[in-house]
Amino acid sequence: MEPVINNDYLELIEKLKEISHLNGVMSTIGWDQEVMMPTGAAEARAKQISALAGVIHERTTDPRLGDCLATLKEADSDSFDLLQACNIREAQRNFDLDTKVPKRLVMELAELGSRGHLIWVTARKENKFANFAPVLKQFLALKKEWAQCVFPDKNPYDANIDIFERGTSMAEITPIFEQLKAELIPLIQTIQDRQYQPDTSFLQGTFPVEKQEALARQISQDIGFNFDQGRMDVSVHPFCGGSHPTDVRITTRYKESDFIESLYAVIHETGHGLYEQGRMPGYQELPVSESLTMGIHESQSLFWERMIAQSKPFCVHYFESICAAFQGNLQRATVDSFYQAINTCKPDFIRVEADELTYPLHVILRFEIEKGLFDGSMCVDDLPEIWNSMMMKYLGIKPPTDTLGVLQDSHWASGAFGYFPSYTLGAIYACQFHRTLLSEQPDTEKNIAKGHFTPINHWLNEKIHSQGTLYTPQELIQRVTGEPLNPDYFIDYLKTKYKSIYQLDS
Ligand code: ZN
Repeated sequence: MEPVINNDYLELIEKLKEISHLNGVMSTIGWDQEVMMPTGAAEARAKQISALAGVIHERTTDPRLGDCLATLKEADSDSFDLLQACNIREAQRNFDLDTKVPKRLVMELAELGSRGHLIWVTARKENKFANFAPVLKQFLALKKEWAQCVFPDKNPYDANIDIFERGTSMAEITPIFEQLKAELIPLIQTIQDRQYQPDTSFLQGTFPVEKQEALARQISQDIGFNFDQGRMDVSVHPFCGGSHPTDVRITTRYKESDFIESLYAVIHETGHGLYEQGRMPGYQELPVSESLTMGIHESQSLFWERMIAQSKPFCVHYFESICAAFQGNLQRATVDSFYQAINTCKPDFIRVEADELTYPLHVILRFEIEKGLFDGSMCVDDLPEIWNSMMMKYLGIKPPTDTLGVLQDSHWASGAFGYFPSYTLGAIYACQFHRTLLSEQPDTEKNIAKGHFTPINHWLNEKIHSQGTLYTPQELIQRVTGEPLNPDYFIDYLKTKYKSIYQLDS
């Protein structure tokens, strides 16, 4: 059926494109702030960002946008094709999110966000949770009020989760996380008790930054990152940004003493970058082509970082180039010992440095605390104690300070409750996608060992990147893999891999 020309739809599209252009400018000055800006410009930049945010807010809450949407809602739903209907649906969701919150609350959240971040930075540095606790209490109160405005029918914590992982709720996440706990905690314990531990000594040494950069750039390009429509630079924390699918910016950071961290950060961000570069052609400024959720985005970065780049065939392909790049200790390694060394499991205090086996427990701990804070079964003042006893229970270690414990993440300092589950949902999605890829393209591992990544990229692009926001995450996983999200595959993958690395029999 040929879609009809609808003037309200055309006007809506014009407005959405303008919002997309303005967001692109915001993203570019945000990237600039992290990568290029002289520190002396911080105050001026804050004012520029705030002014632009005001303009964007005006556009996203424009009453005329609301009128268009209201008229389109009345129109016969058959008059729109799938892509058009999706643009309307997404625009309505965004408009509701932007307009249902009273201005007073928006301003209070923004004010607490910037003040709270500064308080958190100092509290973390000084190891004083008590100084951060009032911020956390205020954020909880404001975020409950916010939830009441935007999703009055949802449980307040579910409303917060929905922002990052739409359609997903505590009811879906809790049993998955329970299953992960039941399987992973004993496995991690067994590995810790094991006498055999892989040799990692050859990963120590001096690895010149320019060699690291050249290698990372080469691998990023090999797996598909398009440097004609993207860049790679240095920032304090690695991220993927950029103004448009034709302008994707990834970053990393380098340490002379450790090339693995930087290299795998590049591969991770490349995975995010491929998702952005692979958005639906012809619709790149419209909501229909946008990435679906945080969890699906993370599934793409983890797909490349863990499922591909931490696999044996990947090590087979790159081992020689890695050894050629760096002299010294690495010369003692073999493909097998290298593979084992980059896949060691060791409980640690810091989430962002955790390996793939212990990482889910860091996430589960935060999820359970957020749940407890929202339902009132935990109170903010008790968090350091709760945190430490959960770390003991899940990972067998107790942080010596709150800086290494409850104060380590920035998420709560900006009120981002409900974000953490996306990291582990992403890992589970990635594993399930990978399993389907292997069954549909049985030569995948051979291709990786030969450095042929194009078939993988095409598959991800066709099944996920180009699908934008057409489906919910639940529909997408069903369409791609033929079944709902199933943590069994993730658990099997981890068990098989780590039992082999640590030479555990059963
Ligand atoms: Zn990521």
